[in-house]
Amino acid sequence: MCGLVGIVGTDDSAYESFVALMNLQHRGQDGAGILTVDTRRNQFNVQKGSGLVENIFSERTFRTLKGPASIGHTRYATIGRRDPNLLQPFLDSDTGIAIAHNGNIVNCYELREEILAKEPHVLFATESDSEVILRLLCTNLPGGQPDASTIFDAIQRSMSRLVGSYAIVGLVKDCAIFAFRDPNGVRPLFLGRKEGTANGHAYAFASETVALDYLEYTDITEVQPGEAVYITAGGEVTRKMLLKSSYSPCMFEWVYFARVESEMGGESVYKARFNLGLILAEEVKRRGIEADLILPVPETSRIAAIAMSEALNTPFRELLIKNRYVNRTFILDDQAARKEAIRRKLFPITREIVGKRCLVVDDSIVRGNTALQIVKLIRQAGAKEVILVSTCPPISNPCYYGIDFPTPSELVAFNRTEEQIAEELGVDRVVYQSVEGLKKALEQKSLCTGCITGTYPTDVSHGILFEEQRSLDRNRQLTETA
Ligand code: SF4
Repeated sequence: MCGLVGIVGTDDSAYESFVALMNLQHRGQDGAGILTVDTRRNQFNVQKGSGLVENIFSERTFRTLKGPASIGHTRYATIGRRDPNLLQPFLDSDTGIAIAHNGNIVNCYELREEILAKEPHVLFATESDSEVILRLLCTNLPGGQPDASTIFDAIQRSMSRLVGSYAIVGLVKDCAIFAFRDPNGVRPLFLGRKEGTANGHAYAFASETVALDYLEYTDITEVQPGEAVYITAGGEVTRKMLLKSSYSPCMFEWVYFARVESEMGGESVYKARFNLGLILAEEVKRRGIEADLILPVPETSRIAAIAMSEALNTPFRELLIKNRYVNRTFILDDQAARKEAIRRKLFPITREIVGKRCLVVDDSIVRGNTALQIVKLIRQAGAKEVILVSTCPPISNPCYYGIDFPTPSELVAFNRTEEQIAEELGVDRVVYQSVEGLKKALEQKSLCTGCITGTYPTDVSHGILFEEQRSLDRNRQLTETA
């Protein structure tokens, strides 16, 4: 999971990309980059760094990153972990094209071999699947200055070979920007327009509407699954549907990843989370479960917990206090780091918990580390009973599309019943959202629910090789940092 931005038509494009990335920080905290093209000097300018967006870019950055067009990326590593060479955007200076990618290409190792077989002179600089996409695009481009027609043609050819999830923003050396999205629309991408810039009007792509709203872009539309969009430096927009399949956006965007202020698939993330709480409350009622207090696990589950409190007429209490200076645990990149972060992250208000039946609302239970630690904290605080509810159904399959919970044995719901999960986590009861409840809450006709159901929107037969490579990569990182 990563955050993307692409902007054209304003002299502040790099600064706007920076602001957008600040608003997309939750989508990846490993590092970030912004790339511009300065046509007066005929050169690309790029700045990348590890860590949080605000620590990478400074005022000086924006004196260097000149030009009316820019693309930016904030990274959440699933392949290649901490390697700074993997920070995006990636640039091919021969063709004058740069891209940034959110998603995962399941058949990237196979494509890499194919490219090398066809063009043995090609030198890959990284192991990244995003570089494979860039290389594929470049090999499908004719010589000369790319334009909308040649870029669309190259994207269409590339789409026919790429398996997996991809939302892409790109920049061409003549200051045009482009974007495209995989035929299933697994990863999100939006386009907005702003009037009254020095250049007349500007356009921006971003992974979430919140980034566009913040920058006062309006007329926001989704880049459609399988669609490509090309916008020249002069503001001429061309959109083309290249390859459509069944729309299958990742359900996890609404459940956990996206900012609550964003909209996805025409549905507000806030409303989806509220609905998740309402539907889960019905299930709690149906099972005859009663509690004295409803506690959200901060931050993502707060909206669902409020909805449950209203529906069950049970007091909502924020009794797990978060240390805001500790990174989100889920996207820390190894088990030990995650455990330590959870311990430092939350603190219970003991006096309010003692003797109470606590219904604890979490957005999802993936490995169970967070849940286990939280249950321990609440038990130690003297709770009489702990009921854990998850707004997401049990996750028991790998994600091949960019969320890092790859190995089924790492997932607490893998091969366990609800009773066994409750025992594993040390709670009195555990209640999960149903798949039907999830679909109803998100108000989407179709979704990717692969990690829940084991049915994926694309062929994942290459997934085994992909998983093996990812595990090797993770183990290598752990060895290197041991
Ligand atoms: S498998 Fe799960 S986490 Fe991965 S894209 Fe599909 S719904 Fe999202």
